[in-house]
Amino acid sequence: MIKENLSKITQSIPENVTLVAVSKTKPVADLQEAYNAGQRIFGENKIQEMVDKYDALPKDIQWHMIGHLQSNKVKYMAHFVDLIHGVDKFSTLKEINKQAKKHNRVINCLLQAKIAKEETKFGLSFNDIEEILNSLELKDLKNIKIVGFMGMATFTDNLEQLQEEFSSLNNFFEAQKLKTDKENSQLKTLSMGMSGDYKLAIENGSTMIRVGSSIFGTRNYN
Ligand SMILES: *Cc1c(COP(=O)(O)O)cnc(C)c1O
Repeated sequence: MIKENLSKITQSIPENVTLVAVSKTKPVADLQEAYNAGQRIFGENKIQEMVDKYDALPKDIQWHMIGHLQSNKVKYMAHFVDLIHGVDKFSTLKEINKQAKKHNRVINCLLQAKIAKEETKFGLSFNDIEEILNSLELKDLKNIKIVGFMGMATFTDNLEQLQEEFSSLNNFFEAQKLKTDKENSQLKTLSMGMSGDYKLAIENGSTMIRVGSSIFGTRNYN
């Protein structure tokens, strides 16, 4: 089914939208099946799990860390991670920069914006994001690159609310894109949309969707 699910989704999204296959909690065999069907970008939310899967699978996979980050674990993925979605602190950027430098790499990052109304979701306010993008200290971080923003909408069926959350982030993204063009911040990626809401997210400007259960089936644990 994984192959069929993937091709259904790939065929239904515009070419400029990147599909991240969210494989958290799923066994390596499932990822291999998706890989055999042509999928090369996978998203995980736990660093140790991602490292184990990286070790077990072909090396042309691009690994995206989509979960909330613990700074002390960044070092375990710094040699291979392709994009980190959930950066919501300046201190985390500094730690990513430090670890990337050890491997002579530049690691791409997305700043996570808080767009959901729920209290539990992580993320920065638009003001905080602007502050980071404009900070003088950012220029010194030569081993990271801010390539866009990530957002998670409220868990709700209320389409109007979802639409409002997605479009507010898209408007902010478009405005910042015009203002920010520095060596280590070039905004081009807007990561929003999951299994339940990716179509709406794409209508509202998403360029990268993170889809798990619609590809791999429901998860038993999180
Ligand atoms: C699990 C997860 C997803 C995928 O969720 P589905 O509803 O299974 O598509 C997307 N983004 C993040 C940050 C996640 O943790």
